[in-house]
Amino acid sequence: MHINKRIEELQEELIRSTQELVSIKSVQEKAQAGMPFGPGVAQALTKTLAIAAGLGFKTVNMDGYIGYAEYGEGEDYVAVLAHLDVVPEGDGWNYPPYGAELHDGKIFGRGTMDDKAPLVAALYGLKALKDLNIMLTKKVRVIFGTNEESGGQDIKYYLQREKSPLSGFTPDGHYPIIYAEKGIVIFEVVKKLCFAGQSEIHIVSIEGGHRANMVPDYCEAAITAVDPKLVVLSAAEFAARTGIKLETEIKGDLVIVKCAGFAAHGSLPALGKNAVMYMLRYLAGLPVGEGDLASLLKFFDTYVGLETDGKSFGVALEDRESGKLSFNVGIIHVTEEKFSMVLNLRYPVTFTCEDMMVPFYKKIKDTGLEIENMIHQKPLFFPADHPLLKTLQKVYTAQTGEEATLLAIGGGTYAKTMPNIVAFGPIFPGEPDLDHQANEYIKIEHLLLNAKIYAHAIYELAR
Ligand SMILES: [Zn+2]
Repeated sequence: MHINKRIEELQEELIRSTQELVSIKSVQEKAQAGMPFGPGVAQALTKTLAIAAGLGFKTVNMDGYIGYAEYGEGEDYVAVLAHLDVVPEGDGWNYPPYGAELHDGKIFGRGTMDDKAPLVAALYGLKALKDLNIMLTKKVRVIFGTNEESGGQDIKYYLQREKSPLSGFTPDGHYPIIYAEKGIVIFEVVKKLCFAGQSEIHIVSIEGGHRANMVPDYCEAAITAVDPKLVVLSAAEFAARTGIKLETEIKGDLVIVKCAGFAAHGSLPALGKNAVMYMLRYLAGLPVGEGDLASLLKFFDTYVGLETDGKSFGVALEDRESGKLSFNVGIIHVTEEKFSMVLNLRYPVTFTCEDMMVPFYKKIKDTGLEIENMIHQKPLFFPADHPLLKTLQKVYTAQTGEEATLLAIGGGTYAKTMPNIVAFGPIFPGEPDLDHQANEYIKIEHLLLNAKIYAHAIYELAR
């Protein structure tokens, strides 16, 4: 078979199609008629379907929510799942973020790596199989998602109308293969606060963090005190003793305490410095009386503190496949009336949500805290000897000459949204991950290699 040779012949077209898609700003906007995620996303979907039709595939647009290109016959199918929506470009670009310009053998632009070029690579991989008249026993679909970055309504719409694939992959992660993704819960712990009576120092508010899945890098508290100078002094003493960045500013009656941490992704809280938990450590040591808030500050400082594995909270879980549970305090919002904290916990793949939440509930039983707005994503896990993994490993090694190790992560990839799918590429080991950052690019050399790997993977899964 000459799959790779055929892909090399298609190189110019492959690059052009990638550039065409990258030049469309497919950031989610307000819905319009027939465009549930706005005009940019709709335009990218229409363009992709036109490219796929031009390559000779049957195409389907599912009401603007999602689309696919199909090749072959039969009921059951193998899927490649990729997405066309992108996150906003942000600042700091050396080239226009939607210019899709070629420099030093790389195409630059938002969405090059995440996830447009890999999508085009899979499409041209399938095109090579078609051009070579390679017989497959299963139908193949390249599915064009449009809402991966902000809500996942695309896959929901799809799965309500179509059956799940037999197997497949999503080129929206890292090589070699991500076979384990932790279970993820996000929820709020809340409590109404009763007036605590007069105390020497009184906390008016605490604010920190913006997102559950980030380690907050800043937290601020507003305090009133009989002697504000005492607060200023205690903060300075705390900062000197612990090395934690804590500053104070007097604003009218209030002392504003500002704490700086270090941001990190919520799946890797140990890499950050949690400004909220630093702040609670400081506040828990102040003479703030005996009220609800004082107890909650002590509770969280004692049982979470600076830990990121849930050990003192009693929820520490660990397995060989995916490591330790991660415990991230993402947001705090405290007023005189209400305490609220948003948590992001990620449990190892061989456990269930109950394994974590039963001890969690037990721990908060006597605090009066309640859990609200819970979101849960089950873990993704394929046993190491699963045929899908074996097949992709074989293909990866044959095409790259490298060993295809299996990766476990705390994040959730697109694979989690669709049954029987794993994340496979497109970022090669040792390459920078510029997804969602400035100067995102894909090397032409890797665009081609991706197309070859995906072509062989499709062939092996569908033959
Ligand atoms: Zn992506």
